[in-house]
Amino acid sequence: MDQALNLETIRNKTLRDIARKVEACLPVSEDDALFMLTTNDILELGLIASYVKRRLHGDRVFYSVNMNLNYTNVCELRCPICAFSRSEGEDGAYVLDLDEIEHRARWAASMGVDEIHIVGGLNRSLKLDYFEEMLRRIKRTCPDALIVAFTAVEYDFFAKENGIPLDEVFSRLIAAGLGALPGGGAEIFAPRIREVIAPRKISGRRWCEVMRQAHTLGLKTNATLLYNHLERPEDIVDHLASIRSLQDETGGFKTFVPLPYHETGSLVRAKAKTSTGYADIRLFAAARVFLHNVPHLKALWMYLGEKMAQTLLCFGADDLGGTYHHERVVHAAGAPTADSGSEVTLIRLIENAGMTPVRCAADYRERRAS
Ligand code: SF4
Repeated sequence: MDQALNLETIRNKTLRDIARKVEACLPVSEDDALFMLTTNDILELGLIASYVKRRLHGDRVFYSVNMNLNYTNVCELRCPICAFSRSEGEDGAYVLDLDEIEHRARWAASMGVDEIHIVGGLNRSLKLDYFEEMLRRIKRTCPDALIVAFTAVEYDFFAKENGIPLDEVFSRLIAAGLGALPGGGAEIFAPRIREVIAPRKISGRRWCEVMRQAHTLGLKTNATLLYNHLERPEDIVDHLASIRSLQDETGGFKTFVPLPYHETGSLVRAKAKTSTGYADIRLFAAARVFLHNVPHLKALWMYLGEKMAQTLLCFGADDLGGTYHHERVVHAAGAPTADSGSEVTLIRLIENAGMTPVRCAADYRERRAS
């Protein structure tokens, strides 16, 4: 696969200037990011994003065989964007007990799952010993699986609820089997919008502090961005700039994951029910170019649909996400995709795009495909 960037093929002057910086391995500016997020020249933008992706990963595209564990949907915060959460005692509220979690881990082991992805609501009835025991039992039952657990919002809550410092929360959970962090809860950092979509959630600044602490302790994490609600392109640039700046400091982000908002069952009405193809492409390509220091860009098929996720492989994405058995959060918000994909389907999507599938977990260590 040709890895060169032919500047002659880029006729848009601003994009050509951006391409020159990219070719010279120089960071592009926030103005450049804003331009990329609003241009209609998506094919020329795609040439640049695809060049960055190929320079980092060649024609390899990553996927994982993983299981989701949403241990409770009872949540203190009841964010207006969230269709998943319930209040204590409300119809549909649940908490998984440790035996049920162990049962699911046994199932994961029997399926050869490489990664267990755990997130849930902020539930006062669950203390840190529940989470330690959860991770210990999963590790015992499924020793080869990487545990990718809890958002920055949950870690902040664990520290406050248990009256202990954040670094102690991390150290205890690392000792119990924690391997990496999934990176949720970032939503969008712009306070003006965060106050509407998730007014009681920790601020963007605090989210970055929690991640900084995780990175300092050697944990690798994702960083997410929720889009297609009330944000403007400038708010996306602000979010990307915060991630890039923290990454310059810590180097702890391995993957950036843009997530389109699904409004069904949520209280926040989006600008439109679904994002457009151009909006998805512009965002992924701009993120790939702007976040030169974050190695991976994930196009989660479950949020984007298989066809758009596959298309984004040509616009900078190098990771399609996993099989996500038992996913509950995005499906509570009406995502029309199946709640788990098969490895065969993910391989087919990648090969059909002329690229090479690589099975891995969140650490990007290669695993053998089944
Ligand atoms: S988005 Fe997270 S923090 Fe907010 S209500 Fe839902 S589960 Fe709770």
